[in-house]
Amino acid sequence: MEIVKTINLKKYYKMDNYTVKAVDNINLNINNHEFIAIVGSSGSGKSTLLNCISSFISYDSGEIDLNGTKISELDQSEIAEIRNKKLGFVFQDFMLLDGLTVFENVCVPRVIHEAPYKPMEKKAKELLQMFDIYKIASKYPAEISGGQRQRTAVARALMNDPLIILADEPTGNLDSNSTKEIMDILKGLHNEGRTVILITHDNDIAAQAKRVIKIKDGKVES
Ligand code: ADP
Ligand code: MG
Repeated sequence: MEIVKTINLKKYYKMDNYTVKAVDNINLNINNHEFIAIVGSSGSGKSTLLNCISSFISYDSGEIDLNGTKISELDQSEIAEIRNKKLGFVFQDFMLLDGLTVFENVCVPRVIHEAPYKPMEKKAKELLQMFDIYKIASKYPAEISGGQRQRTAVARALMNDPLIILADEPTGNLDSNSTKEIMDILKGLHNEGRTVILITHDNDIAAQAKRVIKIKDGKVES
């Protein structure tokens, strides 16, 4: 079954003197439980595509179907609900909140909808154990390594048990050891049945996914 589908998706950035065709008629079919990499050089449109799928930005035309629902038919609160409950995000620059501890950062996806504390704490502690960041739970992002920051971000992404993990260059700021750790974590998430969409400019990283799609100038390369 398809869990993410884009149909003739277009997103253009209209500048004063020219237009950037960042996503130019992309048709994607991503199956449930797939581990797919979208690879392309810098500026090829990868982040724009992922940000459209995530509803972080709007698109110009076409359609996105998430888990059988057309997102154009949803209102803002329904989109927010899907984003919070069904999607988990991992970014190149971690996007942790500097004023919160590791534990608190991991809890953010539940805190924002005022989930009860005890089950939240239990879930967060499980994730902290799983990703070997339990001992640093009360540290702040500035006090921990890049690998630990990204493991914190992955734990946060999993807090609401999302169906789909969307990772935009998750290893882009990591050394080779931490890169391997994060890739192993993504492979593990795939093996436990989640859909993983990985974006990277690095062909060697992309090759670790089960399927690779190349994009160039906003189009899928055949
Ligand atoms: P990638 O993630 O593959 O590096 P992006 O999706 O970030 O590519 O960018 C695709 C193209 O769209 C690039 O030419 C980039 O400069 C342009 N672009 C991205 N975001 C914006 C924006 N907010 N305004 C104008 N142009 C943008
Ligand atoms: Mg990008």
